Amino acid sequence: MSVNIINEKCKGCTICVKSCPFGAITMSGKLAVIGVACTSCGVCVDKCPFKAIEKIEEKKETTDLSEYSGIWVFAEQRDKKIMPVVIELLGEGKKLAAEIGCELSAVVCGSGIGNLADELFEYGADKVYVADSPELEKYTTDGYTKVIFEAIGKYKPEIVLLGATHIGRDLGPCLAVKANTGLTADCTKLEIDPDDKKIKQTRPAFGGNLMATIVCPNHRPQMSTVRPGVMDKAAKVSGRKGETVKLSVSFSEGEIRTKVVDVVKHLKEMVSLTDAEIIVSGGKGMKGPEGFELLRQLSHRLGGVVAASRAAVDAGWMDHAYQVGQTGTTVKPKIYIACGISGAIQHIAGMQNSEQIIAINSAENAPIFEVADYGIVGDLFKVIPAIIDELDKQCS
Ligand SMILES: Cc1cc2nc3c(=O)[nH]c(=O)nc-3n(C[C@H](O)[C@H](O)[C@H](O)COP(=O)(O)OP(=O)(O)OC[C@H]3O[C@@H](n4cnc5c(N)ncnc54)[C@H](O)[C@@H]3O)c2cc1C
Repeated sequence: MSVNIINEKCKGCTICVKSCPFGAITMSGKLAVIGVACTSCGVCVDKCPFKAIEKIEEKKETTDLSEYSGIWVFAEQRDKKIMPVVIELLGEGKKLAAEIGCELSAVVCGSGIGNLADELFEYGADKVYVADSPELEKYTTDGYTKVIFEAIGKYKPEIVLLGATHIGRDLGPCLAVKANTGLTADCTKLEIDPDDKKIKQTRPAFGGNLMATIVCPNHRPQMSTVRPGVMDKAAKVSGRKGETVKLSVSFSEGEIRTKVVDVVKHLKEMVSLTDAEIIVSGGKGMKGPEGFELLRQLSHRLGGVVAASRAAVDAGWMDHAYQVGQTGTTVKPKIYIACGISGAIQHIAGMQNSEQIIAINSAENAPIFEVADYGIVGDLFKVIPAIIDELDKQCS
């Protein structure tokens, strides 16, 4: 919508100039002129006593939805290794594709990554779009956005899924803005509406207190970034084959504005909570960093990894890389042992899909017991050493 002065009716009274909340109207001689600051709010239309200002509805640009088909998964790779979230997205993508009745594809960018296509086929991709070029060796916003945006324009997928990793969260919005479409960030659930086959994207909002289900009815592709660790991984079918499509890659001088000087790997990247089968997690009840030593002893015996609640991280006892929950990592191990963790909703959001939850807490009314399969009410400094002793006895 825009606002327009009807010059023949304008009497030069300046009422609109004074009424405009954005100072967007000026006088040119005896005629009002609308400037670039206009937001089309329409206040001036109502204020003009001579009906000399009108609102004009602009014709909405519409997308021909029928041109778009298929589901794409952005196959994020680092050091030529497919990220675990990609396997989760392929698992979920397969289900969605079956419901829509469409093809599942993966799009992978990098340098010397030709053989990754085979792995993606084995995890369920019917087609793999490969952009292989030295300029794509390291992730850059400009490089990846250009290549994938061009591919979207050419091949027109109806859904594009990316992992909500640092890279996915950077790339997704850039692609969505260029494609003039909708993006839902950090989804935890995806479903296909049986009536119109559009994707319903659910994500936690307002600190996890509300689950918002979002649809993108009129624009394509429908885009989502998906929280790692939430969806089930695709099963591997060894030797499964598909079709490879090479994407053209050409950049003009200076088109990629980022120069990657160095990639520094922190301890953070070495903590793999999402892949762990057993997690021994500690909270404020551990009383201090020494308490986590006890958890390490337990997790060592179980072949698991140690994690923490935000309260323990905020206290400086553990690095944020170990944090489970809404603002940490979402985990789905076979066994999650919550020690001295009260079970706040923001913590539960990150571990409730664990296959078995064992809680150790001295307060019998702690909310963690509501999601626990097994609960031990007691002092963890007595309970955990007793468990360790028992494990040692069994192993000796
Ligand atoms: C926007 C937002 C995002 C958040 N994101 C996260 C997140 O990602 N992850 C997260 O964990 N939290 C998150 N939080 C914080 C969350 O609300 C809780 O504050 C936090 O999870 C509490 O951690 P806790 O259970 O370790 O500590 P507490 O709530 O203090 O609980 C400590 C527990 O230890 C028990 N205990 C004490 N001593 C012993 C003992 N000797 N033996 C046995 N049990 C004992 C107590 O009974 C108590 O239940 C978030 C909060 C907000 C507002």
